[in-house]
Amino acid sequence: MRYPKSYDVIVIGGGHAGTEAALAAARMGCQTLLLTHNVETLGQMSCNPAIGGIGKSHLVKEIDALGGAMALATDLGGIQFRVLNGSKGPAVRATRAQADRALYKAAIRSILENQPNLDIFQQAADDLIVEGETVKGVVTQTGIRFDAKTVVLTTGTFLGGVIHIGLENHKGGRAGDQPSIALANRLRELPLRVGRLKTGTPPRIDAKSVDFSVMMPQPGDTPIPVMSFMGNAAMHPEQVNCWITHTNEQTHDIIRGGLDRSPMYTGVIEGVGPRYCPSIEDKIHRFADKNSHQVFIEPEGLKTHELYPNGISTSLPFDVQLSLVRSIRGMENAHITRPGYAIEYDFFDPRDLKHTLETRVIHNLYFAGQINGTTGYEEAGAQGLLAGINAGLRAQDKDGWYPTRDVAYLGVLVDDLITLGTKEPYRMFTSRAEYRLLLREDNADQRLTETGRKLGLVDDARWAAYCEKQEAIARESQRLKSVLAHPGSALGHRFAELTGQELSKENTLLELLKRPQVNFAHVAELAGIEVAPEVGEQIEINAKYAGYIDRQQEEIDKLRAHEEMTLPEDFDYDRVSGLSNEVKAKLKATRPATLAQAGRIPGLTPAAVSLLMIYLKKHG
Ligand code: FAD
Repeated sequence: MRYPKSYDVIVIGGGHAGTEAALAAARMGCQTLLLTHNVETLGQMSCNPAIGGIGKSHLVKEIDALGGAMALATDLGGIQFRVLNGSKGPAVRATRAQADRALYKAAIRSILENQPNLDIFQQAADDLIVEGETVKGVVTQTGIRFDAKTVVLTTGTFLGGVIHIGLENHKGGRAGDQPSIALANRLRELPLRVGRLKTGTPPRIDAKSVDFSVMMPQPGDTPIPVMSFMGNAAMHPEQVNCWITHTNEQTHDIIRGGLDRSPMYTGVIEGVGPRYCPSIEDKIHRFADKNSHQVFIEPEGLKTHELYPNGISTSLPFDVQLSLVRSIRGMENAHITRPGYAIEYDFFDPRDLKHTLETRVIHNLYFAGQINGTTGYEEAGAQGLLAGINAGLRAQDKDGWYPTRDVAYLGVLVDDLITLGTKEPYRMFTSRAEYRLLLREDNADQRLTETGRKLGLVDDARWAAYCEKQEAIARESQRLKSVLAHPGSALGHRFAELTGQELSKENTLLELLKRPQVNFAHVAELAGIEVAPEVGEQIEINAKYAGYIDRQQEEIDKLRAHEEMTLPEDFDYDRVSGLSNEVKAKLKATRPATLAQAGRIPGLTPAAVSLLMIYLKKHG
């Protein structure tokens, strides 16, 4: 049957990438269909019920700044919030929330169901309709044909998924869910490079069988942080503790004893696993000198007894899982509610994509999320948003859009993926961004909301709140600039009382805010200013880091200005020290005409372009 309505955008998969993709396209006014295996699993967290963390919260806040759902759902479902790296500089500060799995899912589903222009349909997509080199629609498992101008694929870990527990394995998309086999076979017919990756999850534990009295409680932060620029702490449900315990020598012996039945160590699993989210058997093997590893015991929700033991992801046989869990302090009598497992799945080499996440070989077909070799809800959501935006723009006959590396972590993520590809599940870190100080989680709205508004992603309420915040920052910064504190004056005395610092000369309050021991609360009191904490935070960061921020901005401007520097046809790349042999080989093979062209060669990092630029300036 041919479905009577033709769509602008069809999104396949209702995970984290798919929901953001569908919402973005629909917000832009495109008639959008979200086609997914099961409506009940919309917004499901396959692994840890937590959102954010280092590098990841930056992506969540960028999704939010562009009108996406992830941060708001986190505020509605978050049961423990913390700011990681709170004592370090603002560039690496990161908000992390433990979520109630059910509340998070309910929030996502409600946002989806209330989104105008968006239809949801439950069924497996088995086939893509491709005419010539252009995708035209999708055929479902029961033969329903949906026509569309563009299609976004966000199938997660489901393509050719195989679940492993010990040496037993079976087909599955994730525990309890069917895999996507027909579609995987269809995609393998397309001229795209395909590979296998692997990820894993720990067994879940019944809290009624755990002794928390011997574990260390880990409360959330006070005041409770928020994730969304439109969020507030009143949105949060009840807050609860997480707990900390440790593995020990006995745990490690049990694991070593089970390695002969490990699918990873017996070669049954071929896919490469996430380096930064290793299984416990991997950790024991790689860090053989460590006799203990931390395990965070995290509640899965307010209305369930299930716990997520963060740090013991495993695909060892069930009997080994039970023994290893029971060897950990506080879990001597633990009951496992769900065994841990590993899953292997198909991913497609992201070097076959453009910056817009459209495939290079099939027009109007976009890929986002785990299918591109990434791991994590946040990485998936960010890509989904970008693919949804670009599928929508294409459907509206408009040019594509993507942020560059100096504008957003989303820009870093996409640029890394499509230029470097990946051999292992890719996750985001602040260290991947060369302009970290500019790409902070706290200023994601300043970097992206105006663009989001132009793209049609940002609604009136968000736009009004954003404009009000920017006006407040400008107005109160100006006010601090206009108030002078003199040595010996009443203001000078009060400043000394508050900060323990004597004034030696006249200063504006904005200048005083630059001092290390002075914070916004001090100068706000002196100036009689009352503003929202997020406004004060921006004024303080702008004042304290102005020098560094300006320097990074200059670097970016310089790089942009030099993009048109020419590289002679016979340029000798061997003379540029610091370039790797691989990069030199690529440059020699491509012979780019300008630095900008060099930068677009897959695999050429911004650092390599900088080296070329410095060399050209010195010798050119
Ligand atoms: P998913 O969330 O997997 O969603 C895919 C969606 O597509 C599902 O709704 C599915 O039903 C649907 N779908 C698939 N094929 C079809 C089809 N043919 N037709 C219709 N619908 C379809 N991340 C980490 O960061 N750290 C970890 O430690 C970690 N461990 C993990 C362990 C396991 C066992 C699993 C399964 C995942 C783990 N993840 C981990 C990864 C995390 O779950 C994913 O990164 C994230 O969910 C990816 O989002 P996505 O939207 O790309 O795909």
